[in-house]
Amino acid sequence: MIRTRFAPSPTGFLHIGGARTALFSWAYARRHGGSFILRIEDTDLARSTPEAVQAILDGMRWLGLDHDEGPFYQTQRLDRYRAVIEDMLVAGSAYHCYMTPDELDRLREEQRSAGGKPRYDGRWRPEAGKTLPTPPAGARPVVRFRNPTDGVVAWDDLVKGRIEIANSELDDLVIARPDGTPTYNFCVVVDDWEMGITHVIRGDDHVNNTPRQINILQAIGAPVPRYAHLSMILGDDGQKLSKRHGAVSVMQYDDEGYLPEAVLNYLGRLGWSHGDDEVFSLPQFCEWFDLDHITPSAAQFNTEKLNWLNAHYLKRAETPRLVALVQPRLEARGVTVTGEPSLATIIELHRERVGNLNELADVAEVFYIDLHPRADLLAKHLTPETLPMLSNFIERLPAIAWETTAIGALIKEIVARHGLKMPRLAMPLRVLLTGMEQTPSVDAVVAIFPRATVLKRLALAGRVTGTGSS
Ligand code: GLU
Repeated sequence: MIRTRFAPSPTGFLHIGGARTALFSWAYARRHGGSFILRIEDTDLARSTPEAVQAILDGMRWLGLDHDEGPFYQTQRLDRYRAVIEDMLVAGSAYHCYMTPDELDRLREEQRSAGGKPRYDGRWRPEAGKTLPTPPAGARPVVRFRNPTDGVVAWDDLVKGRIEIANSELDDLVIARPDGTPTYNFCVVVDDWEMGITHVIRGDDHVNNTPRQINILQAIGAPVPRYAHLSMILGDDGQKLSKRHGAVSVMQYDDEGYLPEAVLNYLGRLGWSHGDDEVFSLPQFCEWFDLDHITPSAAQFNTEKLNWLNAHYLKRAETPRLVALVQPRLEARGVTVTGEPSLATIIELHRERVGNLNELADVAEVFYIDLHPRADLLAKHLTPETLPMLSNFIERLPAIAWETTAIGALIKEIVARHGLKMPRLAMPLRVLLTGMEQTPSVDAVVAIFPRATVLKRLALAGRVTGTGSS
């Protein structure tokens, strides 16, 4: 039974690297019919915030990465950590150390000036036949893990291959502070054990913690999970992904008009591959996902590809869903979506042409507001040549059938009569009706408006130029 977990520290947003870790852990559990556990690592009280917890939960919900167990909060499990520490003290795999921070600093200073690596010297570590110093009166000790002194700690990383660290490289890690609170690595160990985690999939910024965690797991008699350390994500520019790159928080992608399935599809390919497949649904991803095809080298973010995927999914999304996603964006701009044309009609006409939900909102907005086309566009397209055609068009509108073909035929007839080309009439129509020079086919744009609105918007031609065409 496969059990994976996502264990974010709630110190900021759910960023894109965390989301990929979550996706891979989730998909691995789903692929194998296992369980996916959400654990909030909130023991760093100074840096953890309820807002960050909420941001993580929101991000996971937006992506649709549902958990089977949790969220577990480490701050609610402190008694468990303490109990395990007590057991370790009794078993001798942990011990009290009364060295003060000052003493530690002095020791490190001496080691450094002697050209060595600063490390704990084991002065409070119990050994057979060794007499320990007398604990200073009233001092509160830390608890240290009794790390093995010889041999190596090794694991076959499912991404990076075999990794071996000599135990002589590892200090006796502090697992509880003087006030009794457990430290980071220790909580992870107890949780991975008690939550029965079989596969730890996480960022490779944790590779250095792994040998320590394995040693503690072995000391408490816990099974050692398999580890898969994911390489980091670089920005478009090849630099480590950071806030400088803009949208690094998952919810910012929502703000910017991306669909979650596009982001998921994109993240799925970030460091993992299935042949040449670029486009896949989430169920498809779950079916294909494995740890064998994760690249150990860094993955580079490619915004263009993400945009391409987003446009792809926009074309395929169900219209009612897009309506539900675009309407709140319009309302947030103070635009009331009411009357004709319906938002669904507008979306269907434009979805092939836009890259994201905000662009869809941009084109939809012009249908619902009191439109004021830009003066320069009016001046450019309302000319002595085009105005008579517009007048003809307006005169004929009341009597024609209100559908795309008839409107298209009328436009063609008028330009032909004036011996001009299509765009000479299409452009002023576009600008007067939508304020934009680029729209879908002009006959279709005219046809989705109510006839009265078209007449009203085209009447501007007369007012702007004083030709009285209205
Ligand atoms: N809490 C850690 C982080 O947010 C992850 C710990 C782990 O996955 O073991 O980076």
